[in-house]
Amino acid sequence: MPPPRTRGTALRRRLAELRGPEVAAKALDARALAALAANPGCRRRAILDGAGVNKAVLATALGSPSAFGQSQFALTRGNAFEAKVKADGGAELLRLAHEKLDRAAEPPARASLPDLSATGPEGRVARTALALREASGAPGTWTLLDHPLLALEVAGSPAFLEPDAVVVHPDGSWSVVEIKSFPMLDGSADPAKVGAAARQAAVYVLALEQVAARLAEGPEGGPAPRVRHRILLVCPKDFSNLPTASAVDVRKQRAVTARQLTRLTRIEEIADALPEGTCFDPGLPTAELTAAVECVPATYAPDCLSACELAFHCRDRSRTAGAVTTLGRTARAELGGLSTVEDVLAAAHGTAGDPADPAVAALRRAAYLRAEALDARETVPCP
Ligand code: SF4
Repeated sequence: MPPPRTRGTALRRRLAELRGPEVAAKALDARALAALAANPGCRRRAILDGAGVNKAVLATALGSPSAFGQSQFALTRGNAFEAKVKADGGAELLRLAHEKLDRAAEPPARASLPDLSATGPEGRVARTALALREASGAPGTWTLLDHPLLALEVAGSPAFLEPDAVVVHPDGSWSVVEIKSFPMLDGSADPAKVGAAARQAAVYVLALEQVAARLAEGPEGGPAPRVRHRILLVCPKDFSNLPTASAVDVRKQRAVTARQLTRLTRIEEIADALPEGTCFDPGLPTAELTAAVECVPATYAPDCLSACELAFHCRDRSRTAGAVTTLGRTARAELGGLSTVEDVLAAAHGTAGDPADPAVAALRRAAYLRAEALDARETVPCP
């Protein structure tokens, strides 16, 4: 077996071939990772994300453009709000961190704002780790890391993640800060949006825990700094542009994401199973591109519609194949080995399926009860 460095180079080369020689890689972000963790069985998404394919562009090239993503207006508004929150050396942000996460600590009268600039993602990751180590080693001070860069290994390939900010508390512990532009009305925000922000923050928490573990194993050793599992969510207050915040407990999301990420099939394994010459370059003819996408197995579920840019394409394919996955994960699980709507109807009407199979028996019983209610019992055999 070739040494790990050689294997890593070969994998990177293979992923670049899959993406298309002239196509720039799209970095995996925490939002994408959280969505990937929500559907760990989908090899299609795993390989496309691992290869840095821009799925929104790919979906358009396939003729099924995605319907989500932020509008330019929302992006501009979000950036302006974030700049306001971090203005004045992050004074307001640190005040909110003190108020919502660490009231027992000294208020942040003065804060340190390390420079995190460096060349390339690896350089920025190293600079962030150094700044975190220095801040944790200076007890009694508040430190704000603006857009640090963290690395997290996902399915055997590194993902670079950039939280809005990380705060180092006077006791040396670390907190993730998420700044969102959706409003917090009377102290609470849309639960679906808060849930999505919590899943995203959980990915940052996992990445920070890896940094903490590496620092503890480093030459200077010592106990690993504590990564707090309550993150700071900052949003505009009511209908104004003033920041307000709330502490969000992400323990559950962290545990779920950690478990799901370990279940992802290794990118290398998926890439090796693809036919030679497979390429997802959006510049290819549609038929060729469709064939390339279809050669990677997918596990479509209606949840994909709110999480993956390829959802319309995968839903069309699923519907065309009559797959029961379009009915949702719960129905899919109840139907056992019956994978198409055609099989399900045949089982219900007694023309196929093993009557000893609990799913088949339940379907026959349900069909009989329905026919009985409609007074059409003779059309369905008694189970
Ligand atoms: S939309 Fe398709 S590619 Fe995306 S997660 Fe769902 S099944 Fe996988």
